[in-house]
Amino acid sequence: MSNKELDVLRDQLDEINLQLLHLINQRAELAQEIGRVKEKQGVNRYDPVRERKMLDLIEEKHEGPLDLASIKHIFKEIFKLGLDIQDENKKKALLVSRKQKQEDTIINLNGELIGNGVPSFIFGPCAVESYEQTAAVAAAIKAKGLKLMRGGAYKPRTSPYDFQGLGLEGLQILKRVADEYGLAVISEIVSTDDIETALDYIDVIQIGARNAQNFDLLKAAGSTKKPVLLKRGMSETIDEYIHAAEYIMAQGNSNIILCERGIRTYEKATRNTLDITAVPILKQETHLPVLVDVTHSTGRRDLLLPAAKAALAIGADGVMAEVHPDPAVALSDSAQQMDLKQFDAFYDEIKRLNWVTV
Ligand code: PEP
Ligand code: MN
Repeated sequence: MSNKELDVLRDQLDEINLQLLHLINQRAELAQEIGRVKEKQGVNRYDPVRERKMLDLIEEKHEGPLDLASIKHIFKEIFKLGLDIQDENKKKALLVSRKQKQEDTIINLNGELIGNGVPSFIFGPCAVESYEQTAAVAAAIKAKGLKLMRGGAYKPRTSPYDFQGLGLEGLQILKRVADEYGLAVISEIVSTDDIETALDYIDVIQIGARNAQNFDLLKAAGSTKKPVLLKRGMSETIDEYIHAAEYIMAQGNSNIILCERGIRTYEKATRNTLDITAVPILKQETHLPVLVDVTHSTGRRDLLLPAAKAALAIGADGVMAEVHPDPAVALSDSAQQMDLKQFDAFYDEIKRLNWVTV
């Protein structure tokens, strides 16, 4: 075949591409029009019966040479485009996305700015066990000039026979300690029923890995004005994680802090596998601050410092780690919490490396 012949065929192909392009857009305009009519009539946009009829007709008229399965696949995609264009929300970038907002979201907690380029640190016990235990950690945090503390009142435990947390009493202890030591407190809420009550006691609602895709809980937290610290689910892809954050923001609450806490893999050397590159990916994809929880990701005291250094070096906005006055008798996560001396050494090293200004 001469080059000329080839050019003629290619020109015809280009012409057909343009016709297809025109037809697909024309179809989308029609679908939009149908969407408007349906909206007026209050009818649901997606109509599976109608879609089935369209597919049946295509199947009936299809003559080849392409195989039917491929044709159906292409038309399903075209139908989907028609549906998506009717939905305003699907056309826009996610609210949490950098495409939607370029500047970093900065969250002010008790004067501590999370996401302003200077790393923030959240220390505290795995669980609030008593006033004395919580106050001892608060004193150590305050002595370092830090302003944030964590502590679980509702503990999501693997076994129902393990310590479940002090519940409301735990929140009350946290509030008392927060007031006495001038700290902002972060605590996990596991049920929509407790969100309202929690607002009076804590400064940040934590949503834990086990509830990372509990959409009712995400919506309930999103309906408040409280900052939300959203952990990554243990088997959650980054895309699913971003969409979980979107559930919160779609309700009107944009005060969201992300926290990578390791994901479950086949590796047994650590409790979870810290997905360190999730940090820059989340920073690129969203405008939200991103922390790294070095305690639950590693599950190993000897790895807390190296993991924290890696987190800060790769661009995390801060680090969360657990501290207990006497980890050996802690009611949860006894193997991985730092005692107060280890806490001092940990923080001294962070300071020596100039990661902090206090
Ligand atoms: C916690 O931070 O107390 C906790 C239970 O963490 P995660 O949800 O990440 O397991
Ligand atoms: Mn813990």
